[in-house]
Amino acid sequence: MNASTPSSRIGGFHKLGVAQRIQAVAQFAGLKESDQALLADTGNLPADMADHLIENFVGTMNIPVGVATNMKIDGCDRLIPMATEESSVVAAVCNAARQSYEAGGFVTSMSGTLMIAQIQLTEVRDPQHARLCILERKADVQAICDACDPVLLKLGGGFRELEVRVLDTRGGPMVITHIVVDTRDAMGANAVNTMAEKLAPQIAAWTGGRTNLRILSNLADRRLARARCTWPLAAIGGEAVRDGMVSAYHFADADPYRAATHNKGIMNGVSAVVLATGNDTRAVEAGAHAYAARNGRYASLTTWEVMASGDLAGSIELPMAVGLVGGATKLHPMAKVALKVLGVASAEELARIIAAVGLAQNFSAMKALATTGIQKGHMALHAQNVALMAGALGDEVDRVAQALVASGTVRIDVAEAELARLRAG
Ligand code: NAD
Repeated sequence: MNASTPSSRIGGFHKLGVAQRIQAVAQFAGLKESDQALLADTGNLPADMADHLIENFVGTMNIPVGVATNMKIDGCDRLIPMATEESSVVAAVCNAARQSYEAGGFVTSMSGTLMIAQIQLTEVRDPQHARLCILERKADVQAICDACDPVLLKLGGGFRELEVRVLDTRGGPMVITHIVVDTRDAMGANAVNTMAEKLAPQIAAWTGGRTNLRILSNLADRRLARARCTWPLAAIGGEAVRDGMVSAYHFADADPYRAATHNKGIMNGVSAVVLATGNDTRAVEAGAHAYAARNGRYASLTTWEVMASGDLAGSIELPMAVGLVGGATKLHPMAKVALKVLGVASAEELARIIAAVGLAQNFSAMKALATTGIQKGHMALHAQNVALMAGALGDEVDRVAQALVASGTVRIDVAEAELARLRAG
């Protein structure tokens, strides 16, 4: 390290005010005044709120919010706010929804709103015996858990089930307790973590073992959101398109290399709505990918079949731990507006909508891949990003983007040359 490199050891950084923190970062990184002004501009998230959401807050990162149109879900028309920086994602949902709208759109359901928290017990000589000792205390477990959250209890939530497994691990046998809790309209991480922490000393006392971790599982397989949809053969462009799409699904379901990208496409839609509503994208993503590997091999989150009518049927099922309360959902002003646009009354309704968006996203990605390829549609939108990167402003953006698409070369150097030509002439 160079002797003149400034130190990252900034004592008491978290105790500074936001303006002072920005100043300290500016000093460290040699930021210009305009950079500092950008950090200080927190857009639609008030600085004092952001400062309470995370630690060492210095600025916000704006992500575009688009609205997907054409969605009919369980007979109800919905506009879907989606927060994403990736082009084509919102358009993909609109297109898939347009092609299914006349046939009735999406039908959704949910397995429940149950979250699982785990308590790890080690150093047990008699794990099978310990397992039964815990299971016998179900009434005590329920009382301890429910006492943690009277608000949840009043809303009809609370403890539901007790499961205990003996795991063989590299470190010897462990006894893993699952408490299954209905968290209603909350994602529920804090709610169930509190219960697990409260319960752990009792489990240690009942078994003579030592409790270690006490934390929710993001594999929320008691909280599965499901969506299905039928796309009429005529609406999607005939048998060749349909069969290409089904073959694409077969490929994804058989090969983890393909499944990762197939599911990433699904999560393009899912995460965009999760983020727009102030929910935890990492929690939903972890749950989705773990669920995709539940049978021992990573596979597709969707299934695609040809119906007797010849139409294409798609379905999706994935854990969907999202809430209308808790985290940033009730705080972030944009999340509140997004929930108003969606018009949802429960976390279950939101989860079901998100599953439908994931399925729609997958339909469009597979269709593009099985026909013209992803780049044609993607590049038209990507060209606008490249035009912006080249410095295009106002109506220059569209003009440069159109020139890039027409030339068949969407590249920054071509965009810069086109912009210079435009401005010169
Ligand atoms: P929370 O604790 O802020 O809110 C939930 C509480 O709100 C409930 O326990 C209940 O007391 C109350 N409540 C009021 N109205 C309710 C209603 N209608 N339905 C249900 N509860 C209602 O939040 P949370 O949902 O317990 O936790 C979510 C947060 O935890 C997220 O910000 C997430 O990022 C974070 N988190 C996630 C993980 C993880 O995913 N591994 C771990 C830790 C924390």
